[in-house]
Amino acid sequence: MIHPPKRLLYGPGPTMVDPRVYSAMGQPIVGHLDPFFFSVVEDIRAGLREVFGTSNDFTLAISGTGSAGMEAAVANFVEPGQKFAVLANGFFCDRLVEMGKRHRGDVVRFDKPWGEGFSDAEAREFILREKPDVVAFVQAETSTGVYNAGKGICDAARDVGALTIADCVTSLGAMPVEIDANGIDVAYSCTQKGLSAPPGLSPITVSPRALERLRARKATIDTWYLDLKLIDEYFEGPKRYHHTAPITLFYALQAALDAVREEGLANRLARHKRAHERLVAGLEELGMEMLVPAGQRIWNLNTPKIPAGVTDAEIRKHLMEKYGMEVAGGFGTLAGKILRLGIMGPLASDEGVNNVLGAIAEALPGGIGAGSTSSRATT
Ligand SMILES: *Cc1c(COP(=O)(O)O)cnc(C)c1O
Repeated sequence: MIHPPKRLLYGPGPTMVDPRVYSAMGQPIVGHLDPFFFSVVEDIRAGLREVFGTSNDFTLAISGTGSAGMEAAVANFVEPGQKFAVLANGFFCDRLVEMGKRHRGDVVRFDKPWGEGFSDAEAREFILREKPDVVAFVQAETSTGVYNAGKGICDAARDVGALTIADCVTSLGAMPVEIDANGIDVAYSCTQKGLSAPPGLSPITVSPRALERLRARKATIDTWYLDLKLIDEYFEGPKRYHHTAPITLFYALQAALDAVREEGLANRLARHKRAHERLVAGLEELGMEMLVPAGQRIWNLNTPKIPAGVTDAEIRKHLMEKYGMEVAGGFGTLAGKILRLGIMGPLASDEGVNNVLGAIAEALPGGIGAGSTSSRATT
């Protein structure tokens, strides 16, 4: 037996796993072509349509983490030589750019400082000027805490005939994603953030219009494993072997989506919003300012600025050593400047918020856990 330490995962992910998800993972596996497995797949697809807010028939879970979904979206929908426009205001936007280049897209980017959002007007101006084939944006940028539903971006993209790719890795299951209402063509996510399951699968959904474009595509997709047409033939139609699906992770995702259904998606999102509001009020009482202006904040990933007199390493060290609480710091241009506090799934409750606020209060200047030289981190 292994005995992992019991952590409270208050970071950007992985987040706390629902106990029923752990139970599901202890069930015996079946073969990857077993009718029972396909019944699990069907149930997952229906559950994913619900959380994505879409009626897209092509909605499934790719074997791989969120980055596999990202690479599938880019590799399948950005053809070599096509213009790929990225709205870039964070770390994961840069990853989209990197993938766009590797798949030989003609990448153009519109940069904003990390922590700032795009207004609809400036996004539209950029898209109309560039007239790209594909536009990508990150709905919930986990490196900064900025959220943008994306409707304005998608409207502008549609006006120039471009497809849209949305990164919904952190938003899915905790914030409104609303694929159909926002007009998003291709979206991908992960299982270990808003959905309270372990990492390993990447939900993806594709609009009929994008699917048409994919079917008409002439250039071979330069990844075999993430070729969506091949994956589709495994989960749909001929149900032909493509790869051996990680059966246990499918059980986990099914149980996680069951939990969402039972609570009701609207209730679940409202719970995350309440927890976010409680957290922000508490942080402000402690004298911490939020990086992102109200109205553009991700509910389940909060980014308070580090106040004077303490470092992010000191706060994180106190939380981890005293309570086993994992929170993240900033990176890139935000290194040392913010905390990244994930309040998701089982932790999105009054108690979950109070506990982390209490622990942070102790670590701030004047708090009981800070100030003594012995508790100061040296890094
Ligand atoms: C976590 C994350 C990813 C990458 O997902 P992995 O599961 O780590 O591969 C991509 N985009 C965003 C916005 C993320 O937060």
